[in-house]
Amino acid sequence: MSGHEKLFHRGGRPAELLIRQAHVLDPRVGIDAPHDVLIRDGQIAELGEPGALEAPSGAPQVEAAGKHLFPAFVDPHVHLRTPGQEYKENVDTGTRAAAVGGFCQVIAMPNTSPTVDEVSVLRSLTAAAAEQAWVPTGFLAAITVGLQGSELTEMAALSDAGALGFTDDGKPVVSAGMLRKALQYQRLAGGVIALHEEDPGLSGDGVMHEGAVSARLGVTGIPSISESTMIDRDAAIARYEDARVHFQHISARESVEAVQFWRSTGTRVSAEATPHHLTLTDEDVLGLDSNFKMNPPLRSEADRQAVIEGLRSGVLECIATDHAPHARHEKEMPFEQAPMGTTGLETAFAAIYTELVRPGVLPLDLVVERMTAGGGLYGLPIPTLAVGGPANLVLVDLEREWTVGEGGYESRSQNCCFHGRRLHGTVELTLAAGGVVHAGLGARALRQEVRSI
Ligand SMILES: [Zn+2]
Ligand SMILES: [Zn+2]
Repeated sequence: MSGHEKLFHRGGRPAELLIRQAHVLDPRVGIDAPHDVLIRDGQIAELGEPGALEAPSGAPQVEAAGKHLFPAFVDPHVHLRTPGQEYKENVDTGTRAAAVGGFCQVIAMPNTSPTVDEVSVLRSLTAAAAEQAWVPTGFLAAITVGLQGSELTEMAALSDAGALGFTDDGKPVVSAGMLRKALQYQRLAGGVIALHEEDPGLSGDGVMHEGAVSARLGVTGIPSISESTMIDRDAAIARYEDARVHFQHISARESVEAVQFWRSTGTRVSAEATPHHLTLTDEDVLGLDSNFKMNPPLRSEADRQAVIEGLRSGVLECIATDHAPHARHEKEMPFEQAPMGTTGLETAFAAIYTELVRPGVLPLDLVVERMTAGGGLYGLPIPTLAVGGPANLVLVDLEREWTVGEGGYESRSQNCCFHGRRLHGTVELTLAAGGVVHAGLGARALRQEVRSI
């Protein structure tokens, strides 16, 4: 199976529509100007001067003057919570949240119940996605059985059954010998090994970043080196085995430095950054609101700046939400006992645009590039607005403000660290694999298309 064949969704009617006078921005193709964009049979058929193109008879038009059209986003790190925890999320609600957030592809993690560590579990998930997923969805399988760290899964069989790669996300692979063996099998199995890096001996029972704020609050901290020392160890093993590893949700300055160092040695390492680590710090934890409790934790301002610089320089090549839904009753526990994680699919672009692009910290084209890059690391085709490709695109009104959570969430859970914030940037329209999967305020004419999927 090629990467493309390892994505599953319900499909729908190929879109026929004209988007008029949108500012089209696709940094990979070098487009950054107003255009009309004609979609025929789910493909990007033509880009024309603003006002130059005609809609095919009967096809809807979207008036998009003043709005921006990007390749749709890709999220290489989401938790859909199925099988086993459908009260938090399922394929339908999680991928609906993705569509509303402007995503055209997501990759789901295997720390479900049961774990995705057997072909039968993976097959039932890919079948569920083929029936329910609004956007093409891929799956990682576990590295070790039950995420227990003691026995490797049947990686080759899982890869043949559709796994894009492997991870024990939620947990590190504690044994260096086990990771070494996994990297040796990866050669035969294919796919990418992705790592949630922390040293349990250093994280201990910490609940937030170890620093001035944890000291002030008197709660146990997780030091930055819990992450960076494991990155150093695992990159060294990958180099020794001439293997490739991907580091998930980088949170600390030391970790960015570690990835940069190992890349400079020629080791094949890649890494992702989350919207929350790019925009929030441990200062946000002062009120002990459990929506700010995640793993890895929100760190210091110096760490945040390092993650931003890592994203800018390309040491961190993609943005991943680590969308991690939890039920209200779970998050309403006292901070120390509440589970770790924040939802992120519906707020990712607006949070980064509002906190980093509008103040001039990062350029818009770089953010679009990093928000569309995550699938490429797993061998998936990268969305593009070039003529002739399938329509994977998102129309955004950068000026329109909204309050996070005001109209509810598409996700089944509400544990969003940006809840209640005023953000700039609303997703007006999302096309995934050639079909309309979300039509917001500015694209009312297309609501019927979404319902007909
Ligand atoms: Zn993780
Ligand atoms: Zn995760």
